[in-house]
Amino acid sequence: MKSVGKKVVVFGSFVVDLTGRTRTLPVPGQTVMGSTFVMGPGGKGSNQAVAAHRAGADVTLVTKVGKDVFGKVATDFYEKEGMNTEYIFVDEEKETGCALITVEEGTAQNEIVVISGACGNITEEDIEKSRALIESSDILLLQLEINFDALYKVIDIAHAAGVTIVVNTAPAAELPAEILKKLDIVTPNETEAQILTGVKIENGDDAKKAAEVLMEKGVKQVVITLGSMGAFAMNNEKYELVERLSVDAIDTTGAGDAFNGGFVMALAEGKDLFTALRYGNVTGALSVTRKGTAPSMPDREAIDRFYA
Ligand code: ADP
Repeated sequence: MKSVGKKVVVFGSFVVDLTGRTRTLPVPGQTVMGSTFVMGPGGKGSNQAVAAHRAGADVTLVTKVGKDVFGKVATDFYEKEGMNTEYIFVDEEKETGCALITVEEGTAQNEIVVISGACGNITEEDIEKSRALIESSDILLLQLEINFDALYKVIDIAHAAGVTIVVNTAPAAELPAEILKKLDIVTPNETEAQILTGVKIENGDDAKKAAEVLMEKGVKQVVITLGSMGAFAMNNEKYELVERLSVDAIDTTGAGDAFNGGFVMALAEGKDLFTALRYGNVTGALSVTRKGTAPSMPDREAIDRFYA
């Protein structure tokens, strides 16, 4: 579909998800037979870029893969999606990142090992090659799955250029005060917000307390995704909690990624924080009605049908 609005850049991870299902998870040292295996594109950066693209944003993903067959999984997928592959850097030595996922049938419990590989090795040279792209973008969306030295450098470049910086602070990690001050919007889920603020989040009031802590630290606007409780947003004028959409939840993996994609699409179209919150909430809800992560991201037509 034709993109409208401002330019979005996602600078983040690509990993191949290798998912095996088994009747019982193995204990250390044990080998068990599995039943099915699925390979697919993953990584928070990639998933969020795909979500924003399907939602209708003009988005460019910057990421890095290895010189191996998994790197081709990435480029093949983006080409099929009609996404720009110009900023998929290739590491000469490091392998493409992967996530080894084992899911227990029946209980849906899982064990996951993520190896960031090439996307954990973003170099100064990669950043220089993307500098003009970052500086000319309107919105930069980041997560915490690339090497932190690169992440901070990218934040510095965007901040100096006046680009709106949105950070999905996932996976959970603390961020230094001088970095938080440069961020326009952070979008943690409840667990990540707790790690950033020390506030345990069980309801909307707790989300408000956590958002206040983040704003005291200098973040301009805060969004906290609350899973099946919906999503919360706050700026210096008001705050709002939107309830989740009532859908048949089949697979909640990637809900946060979908949320962030839908959310930045709306910002890129010039919508305000609270309208973008609703778009994110719809995009997140629609993604849980389908299996998988990137392939479960809804398109704009579906989002518009449910947006109210
Ligand atoms: P993460 O995947 O990072 O843990 P969340 O679980 O908070 O993120 O989910 C992100 C968003 O997706 C939620 O804020 C909500 O909008 C939507 N969502 C998640 N789970 C459901 C659900 N069961 N039903 C409807 N919407 C959901």
